[in-house]
Amino acid sequence: MLADASRLHIAIQKSGRLSELSRALLRDAGFRIQSGKNELTARVENFPADLMLVRDDDIPTFVADGVCELGIVGGNVLREFELGESEARCEIIAQLGFGRCTLKLAAPETAPWKGIESLKGARIATSYPHIVQHFLDERQIAATVVKMSGAVELAPRLQIAPFICDLVSTGATLDANGLRALETVFESEAVLIQAGAPIAAAKQEQVANLLRRIDGVTATKESKYIMLNAPGEALAAISALLPGAEAPTILPLHQRPGHFAVHAVCQESVFWETLQKLKANGASAILVLPIEKMMM
Ligand code: ATP
Ligand code: ZN
Repeated sequence: MLADASRLHIAIQKSGRLSELSRALLRDAGFRIQSGKNELTARVENFPADLMLVRDDDIPTFVADGVCELGIVGGNVLREFELGESEARCEIIAQLGFGRCTLKLAAPETAPWKGIESLKGARIATSYPHIVQHFLDERQIAATVVKMSGAVELAPRLQIAPFICDLVSTGATLDANGLRALETVFESEAVLIQAGAPIAAAKQEQVANLLRRIDGVTATKESKYIMLNAPGEALAAISALLPGAEAPTILPLHQRPGHFAVHAVCQESVFWETLQKLKANGASAILVLPIEKMMM
């Protein structure tokens, strides 16, 4: 299929850890993705956009070269790409809050480790050679970075390198291979990117519209709507306790002079401890409700 000039092209991972999460984000933002047999693209039925289904490593290149206006990719893959370029060619326009993982330096549990100095003159196997080299350069450590495209966790056992630098989320893969994490090199989550070069004027409004909807979804995921009752003298303390809430709405309660209802959108997680603190400060009838949609 030839790219249609009037439609946006959004690169997402074809199959892997980010593919279903990327589709879910777009679905939550109200985009109906056609599930066709086409292997390379998927049409969005209710918005002028097509998804390009590609390997995650290709996404920054596609976006930087203008083949796709937007892409969803791991921050780690973007960073690796950027460090290999002479200038920034992609721009992050939203942090997406999923696909969280950490690039960690690791070694066999039995290997001696006296801190970062232990890397001097050593070999480090990784799929992220630019990120690792940059990490070493910043600390003025001379070591040899060995690029592997997969199965990095096997490098110590295969005597390719005593150290590895690999993505970790739960740490289960490290454990299973008798490795322990030593240092955090890069914290990552999925990001929405666009090219550093300006997008065609005709498509700018579409990009802005899509971005607004995606921002709405990411904001909503963490956010809660809180309602509670409180006496007038407790309002200041209670307002200060509401996590990430700006200017709560305060309404007088019917036939209860000096008592008020407080309504607020909390843009951070609301924990049981928060509710206990609110109660201890005079709040009662506390309700925490999910928010389905939000546009700021
Ligand atoms: P592709 O076939 O598209 O090249 P891949 O094998 O390189 O896929 P995946 O393993 O599917 O990539 O991971 C995609 C992204 O998911 C990673 O780049 C990273 O941003 C994110 N991710 C989240 N948790 C983890 C994890 N525990 N291990 C690896 N990647 C993770
Ligand atoms: Zn990949």
